[in-house]
Amino acid sequence: SPLAPLTDAGLEVPVLGGATVRHVNLDVAASAPALQSVAAHVARVLPYYSSVHRGSGYPSQAATALVEDARVSVARHVGARDGDLVVFTRNTTEALNLLATAVPGEVVVLDIEHHANLLPWRDRRVVVARPSIAETLVALEAELASRPAALLSVTGASNVTGEVLPLADLARIAHAHGARIAVDAAQLLPHRRVDLAASDLDYLAFSGHKAYAPFGAGALIGRGDWLDTAPPFLAGGGAVENVAIEQVEWKTGSDRHEAGTPNVVGIAALARALVELERLGDAEREAHEAGLTARLHDGLASLPGVRVIRGFEDATDRLAIATVELDHGSVGLLAAALGAEHGISVRAGRFCAHPFFDRVSSRSNGLRASLGAGSTIDDVDRFVAALAQLVVDGPAFEYARSPEGWCP
Ligand code: PMP
Repeated sequence: SPLAPLTDAGLEVPVLGGATVRHVNLDVAASAPALQSVAAHVARVLPYYSSVHRGSGYPSQAATALVEDARVSVARHVGARDGDLVVFTRNTTEALNLLATAVPGEVVVLDIEHHANLLPWRDRRVVVARPSIAETLVALEAELASRPAALLSVTGASNVTGEVLPLADLARIAHAHGARIAVDAAQLLPHRRVDLAASDLDYLAFSGHKAYAPFGAGALIGRGDWLDTAPPFLAGGGAVENVAIEQVEWKTGSDRHEAGTPNVVGIAALARALVELERLGDAEREAHEAGLTARLHDGLASLPGVRVIRGFEDATDRLAIATVELDHGSVGLLAAALGAEHGISVRAGRFCAHPFFDRVSSRSNGLRASLGAGSTIDDVDRFVAALAQLVVDGPAFEYARSPEGWCP
């Protein structure tokens, strides 16, 4: 893509028959390859491998500055307020698990959530989403009014359908009933600007590896009070003011939950990726991805036997994600054939959102295509053409229609 060169640009992969083809990555929602500019930044910071927060030499000061500058940079990118903490974690899953140790009460969630925003909450109340966002907001409001909750935790966008939720409206509903709001921004943040202050959100969790940084670093950002009184997420060096054999004095602030040596390179890369996304331009990226989304949905709509799964009939904004179910045959085998015969990577399954998938799909698995800033119209066209061949015209169609399904 002219918009954002990624580290996998132009990657060639082998296909059946011995040829190689340009790889088409339609699994960006799972993990996006890093931006080339981020990879270059990683190469620049690697020589400063050194002890963080404790060493005395120049490299140690540089490594410490990388982490602390990254904290400031992440806070600024997401519109954090004074008093908000930025705690670095491994990923969104760890960020939400950390928040779960700090919530002083019950948590309300929707059934559309990724397991990472469903399973960590010990005292969770699950509201089944309604056919429209409007009705779902009413159902959430009724739930919060019926019994107090400490937190409403929602995804910013579904990792199955790409549908974007109205975060400011959700925040208003939560706050009106005395609850705070946390947003699982794993999918949303790489594709839309999320701003804590502007949308009045209390917590945000995201992963660097979905936001064009390498694996291994994520963040929880939000109100300091609950986090400062929660048990330290990890017990160890760096999280304490003073340790005597009989008594431990824990720090407050982000240090409290970041014991041990941090992922300096991952954190520096994550922060750099956000700066690069700003540089590419929110409006430019959104326009590029809107073009891809429209092409993808038009292409899929032209194929018989393929249905796009939707959660909400009134969703007006969606990320460049489409999950389809097939009238006949196995999506697992279709996904394998897309890879082996066409060099196209997708994902088949229920996308770590089993309750949602099982409610909205009549099939046991779906096939998801997801795109991002590095994707091109040609990627979409190759996918739609391959599906047309495999599902509609090709031999797989006959296999798929056979009573046994397609068995290799
Ligand atoms: N939430 C959502 C909406 C996701 O799509 C994902 C990743 N599939 C996660 C949470 C978990 O992210 P991670 O694996 O980076 O912890």
